[in-house]
Amino acid sequence: MSAMKFQVPRGTFDVLPELAQTRQHILQVVGRTLARAGYGQIETPIFEQTDLFARGVGESTDIVQKEMYTFTDAGGRSLTLRPEGTASVCRAYIQHGMHKLPAPTKLWYVGPFFRYERAQAGRYRQFSQFGAEVLGSEDPTVDAELIVLMATIFEELELGNVRLRLGTLGSPETRLRYRSTLQKYLHANEGALSPQVRERIALNPLRAFDASDPATQTVMKEAPTLLSELDDHDADHFQTVRAMLDSVGVDYQVDPTLVRGLDYYTQTVFEFCCDDLGAQSGVGGGGRYDGLIEQLGGAQAGAAGWAVGLERLTLALAKTAHTPHEISPELYIAAISSARKQEAFELTFQARQAGICTQLELGGRSRKGVFKHADRLQTQKLAVLDGATGEPMLLRDMESREEQTVPANEVIATLLRARRGL
Ligand code: AMP
Repeated sequence: MSAMKFQVPRGTFDVLPELAQTRQHILQVVGRTLARAGYGQIETPIFEQTDLFARGVGESTDIVQKEMYTFTDAGGRSLTLRPEGTASVCRAYIQHGMHKLPAPTKLWYVGPFFRYERAQAGRYRQFSQFGAEVLGSEDPTVDAELIVLMATIFEELELGNVRLRLGTLGSPETRLRYRSTLQKYLHANEGALSPQVRERIALNPLRAFDASDPATQTVMKEAPTLLSELDDHDADHFQTVRAMLDSVGVDYQVDPTLVRGLDYYTQTVFEFCCDDLGAQSGVGGGGRYDGLIEQLGGAQAGAAGWAVGLERLTLALAKTAHTPHEISPELYIAAISSARKQEAFELTFQARQAGICTQLELGGRSRKGVFKHADRLQTQKLAVLDGATGEPMLLRDMESREEQTVPANEVIATLLRARRGL
């Protein structure tokens, strides 16, 4: 039997240490920024009842129609690996009676999400998102705060070349009115539309703006936009969000055709795009979803939120900013003679306990190999233990190349003194 070569499933990937470090760096900035603004972290299960997403994300969306990883468990329940985070956060908000807490509830999350999509660069079947949600307020200040927080995170990460697209969908009534205006327009131009768009005129006419087919795009350039249907309340809401973004210097482009792939949005919608990313240029986006909590069985409550794809952000950062390097050790300890292996092991343990960033030689290197590896690691100091137990060891400063012979029990004290510049 020939040996089988296992590979990751299509649309998934391994996070190797270098990438893990970038991701960790991003999440540190995210956690810090959101915690300082008073957002608490929430973790929800990776799978939920299928109906939560069918109802929460919307039956007519691509996600629900084609992309869900749904399975029946041994107890006969239909469960789905979560394709997005908002429905789960709303479910938790309702389940735990968070509407009784001082409003609004401000939450953030990070974790893996699953969509059966056509896999390509920047689009995966398992991907990670971090997101923020503010539940229990209809105030447009919430929309502006959320957008500014995302912009702040990107700025701290030194992400270049991103632009913010801002739009509004108005209230559900406005949207309904606009929907029929748009449907009329699409029917009048049916002959020029792609079959896919034509099929969906009744179910989801807004998605016509997303079509990649050139003839459809030409038709959509002239299509009526929702901005012309906004009522006073919608227009006020949008204007307030814009004024707040202007007041803190967050730039945006008003895009009346901004359509998000999820059904639950009302009023403000937005997306940050990075043009270096090619076809999959959306790094993060979100909006207001005033009807969703009620739709999922809770009391009527306004809410808004966003999500950022960690992989997209990592790709965008790799194009525009520096990524952090590996942490180089302060001390690298190597036993050359096997008699001193245990001593080196103990010393490593003690050094780490003393707060010194320490690596132990684990590759069986020769003396020459150890010196070479010390350069590679970019360690500040190298401790070499050779000969018999208890003999003093060689301590080398890698930068000045100074070497001293230090008794074993004084190595840590010597290092701590050097740290303080003594
Ligand atoms: P959405 O939940 O569709 O609004 O997506 C929010 C963000 O998640 C997007 O801007 C992307 O950065 C990321 N994202 C969505 N779907 C995928 C996917 N299949 N693979 C990788 N990232 C994704």
